[in-house]
Amino acid sequence: MVDYKSLGLVNTREMFKKAINGGYAIPAFNFNNMEQLQAIIKASSETKSPVILQVSKGARNYANQTLLRYMAQGAVEYAKELGCNHPEIALHLDHGDSFEVCKSCIDFGFSSVMIDGSALPYDENVALTRKVVEYAHQFDVTVEGELGVLAGVEDDVVAEESHYTKPEEVIDFVSKTGVDSLAISIGTSHGAYKFKPEQCTRDPKTGKLVPPPLAFDVLDAIMEKLPGFPIVLHGSSSVPQEYVDTINANGGKLPDAVGIPEEQLRKASKSAVCKINIDSDSRLAFTAAVRKVFNEKPAEFDPRKYCGPARDLMTELYEHKIKNVLGSENRLADLG
Ligand SMILES: [Zn+2]
Repeated sequence: MVDYKSLGLVNTREMFKKAINGGYAIPAFNFNNMEQLQAIIKASSETKSPVILQVSKGARNYANQTLLRYMAQGAVEYAKELGCNHPEIALHLDHGDSFEVCKSCIDFGFSSVMIDGSALPYDENVALTRKVVEYAHQFDVTVEGELGVLAGVEDDVVAEESHYTKPEEVIDFVSKTGVDSLAISIGTSHGAYKFKPEQCTRDPKTGKLVPPPLAFDVLDAIMEKLPGFPIVLHGSSSVPQEYVDTINANGGKLPDAVGIPEEQLRKASKSAVCKINIDSDSRLAFTAAVRKVFNEKPAEFDPRKYCGPARDLMTELYEHKIKNVLGSENRLADLG
């Protein structure tokens, strides 16, 4: 049993409380490799923002769970080197799909876990989530549950159609399970193709797709049922057009990729939404930078010469999200 507190990590309880009261959201960035982690820690340290490092099933398969946890431990020390005396970094399991997976992460030093029973019948979701909460809370690890189904593809999480969270279920779910935060479905979705072209309108000037707005009425109804309770949005990449354009100009093919407009995430951040998950945007930044180098310098074969620019572009992206979208800049308790 590894106590996350001994690694310098924190759970999400205090982060979320402050985020709700302060009208901002904590960034939850997924990481799979060193460059991505460096970019996340550099961006969050320079902006003095709390941050949630997320590990998905795909990341565990790709990079190895043990290695990722040691990397997160190293990230705490790296943040200190960058001038954050008391960094607020949570290590969070994204989309845990069984009690066993959650338990193994908790036992190994994760400070927060998600148990995603959203595809199960309601009563089974309640039972599974409750079981994880009972285990996690013994070790002061926070738990995120989910109600409602997001469409899209994220690693092994695939759903054809979304189902909005039913506001009439949230009080029962939260009180029966004891979860610390709740992921909801209000129109965000996983991946870089969040909407089919037929769900969107087209901007007559640019020909670009304009996605349908998020269901703020559903969010409002949920907040009315659960005043002050931390809400989480998954699948909240914005799919920046500049990255898509760079990718497509350098040999890529991403037609009609579309995400959630940043103004809508900004608006959500000011509400009880206190954790916003962003993954695809960093994948796009990485790919855009690498494609550009490969296209412009076909003789390049040193991975540092293309992973380095990828890291720089991801750092820029994360800083932008923190400062201009989520509003979590300068929110560390100790800004020293
Ligand atoms: Zn997700």
